[in-house]
Amino acid sequence: MSTTTPQLRTYDHFVDGGALASDAERLQRHDPASGRLVAEYAHASEHDVDRAVTAARRAFDDGRWSRLPGAERARVLRRFAALIDGARDLLAALDSEEVGKPLRLAEGDIAGAIGHVEYAASLAHTDHGDSWTQLERGFVAYATQVPLGVAALIVPWNFPAGTLLQKLPYALAAGCTAVVKPSEFTSSSALEIARLAAEAGIPDGVVNVVTGLGPSTGAALVAHPGVDVISFTGSTATGRAVAAEAGRGLKRVGLELGGKAANVVFADADFEAAADAAVFGAFFNQGECCVAGSRLLVEHAIADEFIGTVVDRARSLVVGDPRDPRTDVGPLIHQRHRDRVESFIASGREQGATLLCGGERPDDAALADGAFVAPTIFGGVAPAQRIFAEEIFGPVLAVTTFATLEEAAQLANATSYGLSSSVWSESVDTVNRIADELRSGTVWVNTVIDGNPALAFGGTKASGVGREAGFEGLREYTESKTVQIRSGRRTLPLPRR
Ligand code: NAD
Repeated sequence: MSTTTPQLRTYDHFVDGGALASDAERLQRHDPASGRLVAEYAHASEHDVDRAVTAARRAFDDGRWSRLPGAERARVLRRFAALIDGARDLLAALDSEEVGKPLRLAEGDIAGAIGHVEYAASLAHTDHGDSWTQLERGFVAYATQVPLGVAALIVPWNFPAGTLLQKLPYALAAGCTAVVKPSEFTSSSALEIARLAAEAGIPDGVVNVVTGLGPSTGAALVAHPGVDVISFTGSTATGRAVAAEAGRGLKRVGLELGGKAANVVFADADFEAAADAAVFGAFFNQGECCVAGSRLLVEHAIADEFIGTVVDRARSLVVGDPRDPRTDVGPLIHQRHRDRVESFIASGREQGATLLCGGERPDDAALADGAFVAPTIFGGVAPAQRIFAEEIFGPVLAVTTFATLEEAAQLANATSYGLSSSVWSESVDTVNRIADELRSGTVWVNTVIDGNPALAFGGTKASGVGREAGFEGLREYTESKTVQIRSGRRTLPLPRR
């Protein structure tokens, strides 16, 4: 097995176009497959965060980026995309190693992320939704979108580069400057991307990265008065805390939070495609995916055969080292997370679900030091059970059956989350009716975990507020300004003199 990552990486923060050293203690990252120390990051103090926000504030206020013509920002963003493309092997290797995700999945993440940078570059050209109105003769107005200012971009660990690049290019296309706070487990790719931003010609201070822990570094960034807009992706619990603090500071906030997607399979579905999608949706990225199809709802008429096929295919997945090209499922992000996932598996057993496969650590001595869990499927799961209702964020699939479309919709909606769902049927009528019923930001029909940078992405209910990507993603970083222009003198309601 080979890796293109350096043996041990040591990073400072990236502020105002270069490295910013910090006196604070360093954070260590161990490869979750082997336990080997792979990276050391700085842990930003409040003072470090202040230096980063001050740099971003200055860069925004003096207009070095925000006042460039959109076409010029687009040109620089295209160069940024090309440089990321040139570094795709390194970025994929870093994310694979630090997350524990199979290398080929990490390569796919980077390819998708480049698409976002290219798409955001095209948006930098547009008028961002400006409009002119003639209200009456001699009275016209234009509404224009202006960049919000300094954006705090807070990123989780499951798709480090992918999530960052679903935020940063849109903020930049809008004319904002940014301070990024990557996850303390997976910060390397964000720091490399900031370096590429500088190389692409994005001016100093426009893209800054501070690394550190959430409750200290992240919280200091959210609370900083120099931040105008916060885009947060992470757990629902942290999202609530971030939203409360944003409320105190009256800052715009976008929240991309947890999920508990249902994969709804009707009897008339393309059996083979739906079975593959059920396996992919549940176990892609070890199930550490906000849109993981972690619940499978199958119509009674095909339930036995369909569930049997899904279990057989899940059993054939290869759990192993992420660098091994044969690996389908890598380790979880760290041992504490594995403990949490295993406590969900225990709850499934205790609450009466039927274990159909997995439920344990892989029986392979070579994997003993890693945070591995075998793909696990429970049948006969009821909505009251924790494995049906709560986000596990691991390779655990909860299966249940339904008799009618109404029952399928009711089961699918029976969680506090509403990020995504999938529907499998060959009937237009079925698809239309259930898509209308499902309460989630995205409904995939005869596909799963799909997308395109042009499409807005986000959740309802406890899955979040706001949208990323597409034109809506850009608008998360702008606000409207209305300019009213009147010719001729207006008669004001003043006392006559
Ligand atoms: P997390 O909430 O623990 O952390 C996310 C980020 O927030 C990290 O950078 C962390 O350091 C920071 N953070 C933690 N506490 C903070 C605080 N008080 N103030 C500011 N920042 C703070 O989430 P995680 O464990 O890194 O990621 C997993 C979660 O992310 C899952 O719930 C998953 O569903 C969700 N997620 C959602 C999406 C989406 O698009 N909806 C995408 C990926 C992940």
